[in-house]
Amino acid sequence: MTRTPLISGNWKMNLNHFEAIQTVQKLHYLIPKGVLDNVEVSIHPPFTDIRSVQTLIESEDLDFALGAQHCHFEDSGAFTGEVSPAFLAKLNTQYVICGHSERREVFGETDEMVNAKVLAIMKYAMTPILCCGETLTEREAGKTESKVLGQIDAGLAGVTNEQIAALVIAYEPIWAIGTGKTATADDAQTVCAAIRMQVRKLTDDATADAVRIQYGGSVKGGNAPELMSQPDIDGALVGGASLDPDEFSRIIQFNG
Ligand code: PEP
Repeated sequence: MTRTPLISGNWKMNLNHFEAIQTVQKLHYLIPKGVLDNVEVSIHPPFTDIRSVQTLIESEDLDFALGAQHCHFEDSGAFTGEVSPAFLAKLNTQYVICGHSERREVFGETDEMVNAKVLAIMKYAMTPILCCGETLTEREAGKTESKVLGQIDAGLAGVTNEQIAALVIAYEPIWAIGTGKTATADDAQTVCAAIRMQVRKLTDDATADAVRIQYGGSVKGGNAPELMSQPDIDGALVGGASLDPDEFSRIIQFNG
């Protein structure tokens, strides 16, 4: 089974819509022709940039997928400040990150909310990037797999095998996000293999072989080739380094 790698840039709360346009244009300019035939790239700007980035991607026919960092699980209603998945779909958003550890830890998103978001995103024919990961304390207590696999079970509740095959899971050890610390390629592979095995238990072989699993946590141009060469790592969810087109383009060219 060949799975097309997906490299996703999560800009978090950085870059206004003018800066977003410049960053995407520069990134596209830096990627040699042909690279994007074999690697998919999604860009996840803040909500206020999405319309501008959509217009740029579509008017210049750039080979980037538009992504969002988050959404609500309801279609509409009295949810001040929230954004509906229906609105993202209307902007041709393809990927939506859900359950990022910052959303879970800073904004109190529970496993149940994350699951509701996964279902809502798919209802609008977009692809969820379901994040999971352990804290340093959990890792040191030997609880990495129980934490991560519990998040997978909860996040995928009520999702059909066909839908699971098409979605993306991002394994992001929380202690490696924005810290400059990266899981070793072996450690990252071990957890990603355990995630795929859990998907196999929940579904079947074809689904487990199809689902794409990203690693995230201080991915840079220098460590991307080793991480991406692991059999169960099918992409990267990149925070800080995705703000720098030079560094992000190096990650995208992990294959040489
Ligand atoms: C992230 O934001 O999901 C992330 C992995 O950040 P960083 O690459 O900066 O560690």
